[in-house]
Amino acid sequence: METALDEIRSELKALGEDDDIVSIDTEDLHAHGYSEWSTVNPDGLPVAVVYPRSTEQVSVIARICHKYRIPLIGYSGGSSLEGHFSAPYGGISVDFAYMGKILQFNKEDMDIVVQPSIGWQDLNEQLKQWNSGLFFPVDPGPSAKIGGMIGTNCSGTNAVKYGTMKDWVINLTVVLADGTIIKTRRRPRKSSAGYNLNGMFVGSEGTLGLVTEATLKLAIVPEETSVAVVSFPTIRDAASAAAGVMQAGIPVACMEVMDDVQMKVVNLGGATAPKVWKEAPTLFFKFAGTKASVQDNINRVAAITKANLGSNFEFARSESEQKLLWSARKESLWSMLALRKGSEQVWSTDVAVPFSRLADLIEISKKEMDEMGLFASILGHIGDGNFHESIMYDRTNPAEVEKVEMCVKNMVNRALDMEGTCTGEHSIGWGKKASLLREVGPDTVGVMMQIKKALDPLWILNPGKIFDVPS
Ligand SMILES: Cc1cc2nc3c(=O)[nH]c(=O)nc-3n(C[C@H](O)[C@H](O)[C@H](O)COP(=O)(O)OP(=O)(O)OC[C@H]3O[C@@H](n4cnc5c(N)ncnc54)[C@H](O)[C@@H]3O)c2cc1C
Repeated sequence: METALDEIRSELKALGEDDDIVSIDTEDLHAHGYSEWSTVNPDGLPVAVVYPRSTEQVSVIARICHKYRIPLIGYSGGSSLEGHFSAPYGGISVDFAYMGKILQFNKEDMDIVVQPSIGWQDLNEQLKQWNSGLFFPVDPGPSAKIGGMIGTNCSGTNAVKYGTMKDWVINLTVVLADGTIIKTRRRPRKSSAGYNLNGMFVGSEGTLGLVTEATLKLAIVPEETSVAVVSFPTIRDAASAAAGVMQAGIPVACMEVMDDVQMKVVNLGGATAPKVWKEAPTLFFKFAGTKASVQDNINRVAAITKANLGSNFEFARSESEQKLLWSARKESLWSMLALRKGSEQVWSTDVAVPFSRLADLIEISKKEMDEMGLFASILGHIGDGNFHESIMYDRTNPAEVEKVEMCVKNMVNRALDMEGTCTGEHSIGWGKKASLLREVGPDTVGVMMQIKKALDPLWILNPGKIFDVPS
């Protein structure tokens, strides 16, 4: 390991790099191997963190690690939730913090070339400052960055209209396990040239290669947006209203659900005071388009929600009202985190099912959590049949940890029984490997492992994630 680190330092120095890009600072190692957000944190920390400045530097690092068989773990925003960037086999964490530039902006083509460490919020801020009229619509955790978003094939509240990360990638520059640099495609929005390598790297969690550049599509900022909030007597009424909106083909920009507990949590958290929310299952809508289409969509959604026992239909008449109405959704996870006491943590997990099954799944899962005496809230991207459960638990209490694990396992199994998936957007990491196996079966995981073996025969890239390291 020390030989490898010395070799990395001296090769980069020979290439003209002045700074020492290798850190072995204890706090740095901890921050790159442990996550407060994560449902799991396997034992082990990286032995070093490297901070490359270019694709070429990443290639040198990979070549040397390949020579000495040292694990390499990509790190961008560090907001992933299933132990994704943990280092159970030690090795080197590659933090792209110094690779956060916009390299090329092609306004006419509505695309942009970026390095992996630019955050999606910063990217949008820059596009706004340039008055470009364009934005990047994929919106996961606030601190997420493009490299990690590609790693997890993330999405967020905008997915019901704009799709997920995989839909926004035009091409990628990737450093492979042995240091080889490849580019997956050129720059047109469509291409049928050979295998879809974008599809292979997006969602591969840094197990097949390290992404050092990405060309991303951009969307037009809509002329008009608005927000509406409606509450319902039960989660089933909310879900059937949401299904009605989808089946009517109303192009909502976002459609989110929060249960009564989550609404109470927002009130308790106080982040949206003085506004006090009705503590009932609630749907949040965003509308986007032309003035006329937004108004038309609001009217149609209001009619559908009313027919499903929705009440208190509130819609925003100004930008500040939009912010206020959306704030409960925006503050939801922070509000839950704010309620932690002592050694309590929040286990945040996601599953997705065909959306007609969502109400069944939520109802059974809520009942089980209540019966087990767990404090848990639900929120979800209901238009995609994707929902999140946030469960409060004491990490130092083994009985409580066991209960949470049981609830999550049961929820995942129920989702799978409903032809769903163990994760709609958070992806597998270290925490959901058994669920993936159950979801797709050993033959499909076997194909994934063959792909891994072909690209990374020494198994050095983020080992132990998605599936176990073969013995
Ligand atoms: C408050 C909060 C809200 C969230 N909401 C959502 C949500 O709505 N939707 C959603 O999908 N997720 C959500 N998440 C999860 C998280 O934001 C996403 O998983 C996000 O995509 C992770 O990006 P990151 O930059 O933080 O990645 P990281 O945590 O740094 O890494 C994620 C994975 O990608 C790999 N990786 C990192 N950089 C590279 C690279 N350059 N090349 C190859 N592999 C790389 C890592 O090794 C790791 O396996 C939320 C998280 C939080 C904390």
